[in-house]
Amino acid sequence: MPSQTHPIDPVRYGTEPAAPARPIAAAPSAVLSAVDAHAEAAIALLSDLVAINSINPLFPGIDRAAVIGGETRCTDLLGERLAALGAEIHRVAPDPERTNVVAVLKGAGGGRSLILNGHLDTVAPFTPERWISGDPWKPTLKDGRLYGLGSTDMKGGLVSVVLALQAIRAAGVRLKGDVQVHAVVGEETMSHELGTSAVLEAGFTADAAIVVEPSSQPFPLSVAPVSAGNFNLEITVRGRATHAGNRGAAIRPGGEGASAGVNAVEKAILVVQALQTLEEEWGQTKSHPAFPTGFFSLVPGVFHGDAGVPSVGYMADKATVGYLVWYPPGDTADAVKAEIERHVGHAAALDPWLRENPPMFDWKSNWPVADTAEDHPLVRTLVDARAAVLGPIPRGRRETWSLNAVTDASFLEAKGIPTTVFGPGNLRFAHAVDEHIEIQDLVNGAKVLALAILGWCGVAD
Ligand SMILES: [Zn+2]
Repeated sequence: MPSQTHPIDPVRYGTEPAAPARPIAAAPSAVLSAVDAHAEAAIALLSDLVAINSINPLFPGIDRAAVIGGETRCTDLLGERLAALGAEIHRVAPDPERTNVVAVLKGAGGGRSLILNGHLDTVAPFTPERWISGDPWKPTLKDGRLYGLGSTDMKGGLVSVVLALQAIRAAGVRLKGDVQVHAVVGEETMSHELGTSAVLEAGFTADAAIVVEPSSQPFPLSVAPVSAGNFNLEITVRGRATHAGNRGAAIRPGGEGASAGVNAVEKAILVVQALQTLEEEWGQTKSHPAFPTGFFSLVPGVFHGDAGVPSVGYMADKATVGYLVWYPPGDTADAVKAEIERHVGHAAALDPWLRENPPMFDWKSNWPVADTAEDHPLVRTLVDARAAVLGPIPRGRRETWSLNAVTDASFLEAKGIPTTVFGPGNLRFAHAVDEHIEIQDLVNGAKVLALAILGWCGVAD
């Protein structure tokens, strides 16, 4: 169980000599020790949340009836805890069976307001029998980690918020600005209109926001004010189905050609190859200082092709490739779309069949970029709070980073609220077997959040 402010671990936090820290206001030690004092209760709360199956009912392959209500049980439980800290509790539920909870802690006045946002839906676990406990909903404490579905993504983040607010209250600190906790549903399927955006449209806005998703890269508890945009794209190519025995006539020199049959699978491979070329080009043309080299990419994650029956006795009539496209802040979604369509179009023009039967694009969804300036006062407040708890970032390294995933920060920013991601947990273990969170990380995260809340909202006399 954690007790002291965590020293920098050279293995986890980098080995370069530390850069001199900017002057930081002395850490209010009463708040930091109150975080330690309440840590055990916070872990119990996280265990209770993990034990509730709150799979997003719109998640692919999930039967809504089997999981509906789990998200609401989680948001209600969190609301209860925040009500006990003196928060007003509001409920926003465009889908009456999926309730968002907003907890408002009124400040004394004269300070900046802050939203702390997190989602309580989870993805579906795969191969539950391979989990350490044999059950993703059985919270298991082992070696300083809490295992269970949603522990990192991101019930742990919201628990660190409760812990931070509890510590501020226990230390007898009164804030100037209001704090709102938005405990939302629907994030894992981009259903922001049922979750984060619905809450904002109900009038719960503020001067700035922190989304407490696991910001673990490159260091634990990184400050991540930018994230890439992404597209979910499906490209379909038609063929001309026929018996597999016609292949020679269809493709060999001197043969009949397309009238004897066209294999859509191989035509779709031409599309994949074209986009691999574009992806290589992006390695040179698309970059951003906060992102790892080569991050912006075109990822083919799904490939289906057949003649309408799953048999190799045919040439395929139709093939579909599903892509996840990552593009940088600074590029517009429309420009990226046009670039991809143009590139595939040029490749198609070189093939007699695709020239006549061009690939079809289905742009299924666009998750917009998040892009708050690294010198925004909220970002600086978090950077300084992090340094006060964990020590400065190693010399020569950036103080802020990208989040290599998408979050509701994009939808908060779309409503004009400057937002950064910062939270405990490890993205590597999100959406994975044996998802877990390090307790020390959760406690450190709560300490940084507590100091950031004090710094941003201000302390009343
Ligand atoms: Zn998440």
